[in-house]
Amino acid sequence: MALKPDSCVVLNDGHKIPVIGFGTYAPDTYTKEQAGESTKVAIDVGFRHIDCAFMYGNEVEVGQAIRSKIADGTVKREDIFYTGKLWSNNHTPERVQPALEKSLNDLQLDYMDLFLIHTPVELKPGDDPFPKDEDGKLIFNNTDIRDTWKALEACKDAGLVRSIGVSNFNRSQLELILNMPGLKYKPVCDQVECHIFLNQSKLLKFCKSQDIVLVGYSVLGSSRVENWIDQNSPQVLEDPVLNTVAKKLKRSPAQVAMRYLLQRGIVVLAKSFNPERIKQNFQVFDFELSDEDVLTLDGVNKNMRYLSIDVWKEHPKYPFHDEY
Ligand code: NDP
Repeated sequence: MALKPDSCVVLNDGHKIPVIGFGTYAPDTYTKEQAGESTKVAIDVGFRHIDCAFMYGNEVEVGQAIRSKIADGTVKREDIFYTGKLWSNNHTPERVQPALEKSLNDLQLDYMDLFLIHTPVELKPGDDPFPKDEDGKLIFNNTDIRDTWKALEACKDAGLVRSIGVSNFNRSQLELILNMPGLKYKPVCDQVECHIFLNQSKLLKFCKSQDIVLVGYSVLGSSRVENWIDQNSPQVLEDPVLNTVAKKLKRSPAQVAMRYLLQRGIVVLAKSFNPERIKQNFQVFDFELSDEDVLTLDGVNKNMRYLSIDVWKEHPKYPFHDEY
């Protein structure tokens, strides 16, 4: 079926997720107010799916932006699909609902559409989102992720969130949840890094077989935040093959990078705090890649991850040691 600006994918719990989402994470060089202002622009140009997280430190501003667009009549609450995420210091079951309630309070919303375990890696429970020992090393913890999941299921039953899912989980971590005794709700999605250099074909195949939606982040090649990302890594939007296809179709490399994932059944997130580019990134519904274009772009894959988070490598649940 042809993709349209209001196209959604039906999740395995019956709710619907818009195929394109607005990313709200930005490095500290941006203010939180810019995240709010950009969210308003995004809603004005047509985005209905907003991806955020406690960790981004901007839920107050993003919530205000959403509420202002409801107040001025642009959208209704039910038109918006809001995703939030449980940070790694809140994996112990008794901390899950309070963490979600804190986010809802910051947002001033009654419910989230989707709440994700942000990453399988767990840090020491407490108020510090990055707890460190005297030597400056992160302090890890290792709760059974299935217990965290049960606490998410309870949040769904309590009506605080419509759908629940995970992020940065590899296949065996997904299987751990899928095979857990007494599973009440399957994860509706796995939000992972996905772009032409890391096209996630194997994880995508597995997710499709389980009726789990793959949501892609860093589809434009990420914001290349210095602390996190190798500054010498190749840039998605500068890739010559992508640029050749874009030139042929008279579209920007960003639009083609997004369209490539959309046509493979992936839900895409894109962050921009620039009004022109926010608008451009929503204009991905009036052109199509041929099967040949998709195959050509498949050839660019190099299983290259921008966000490998090396400081987490020693954690037993580090997700990226496995191939997928
Ligand atoms: P993206 O891949 O979306 O890229 C953002 C960068 O691309 C910015 O520098 C932006 O600059 C630039 N850009 C945006 N549009 C265009 C365009 N049309 N042409 C040229 N450059 C453009 O980055 P993210 O890594 O931020 O991923 C998107 C979202 O995914 C995040 O905001 C967040 O919501 C989510 N995410 C989730 C993670 C997780 O662990 N679950 C991890 C990382 C991201 P400018 O703003 O100046 O336009």
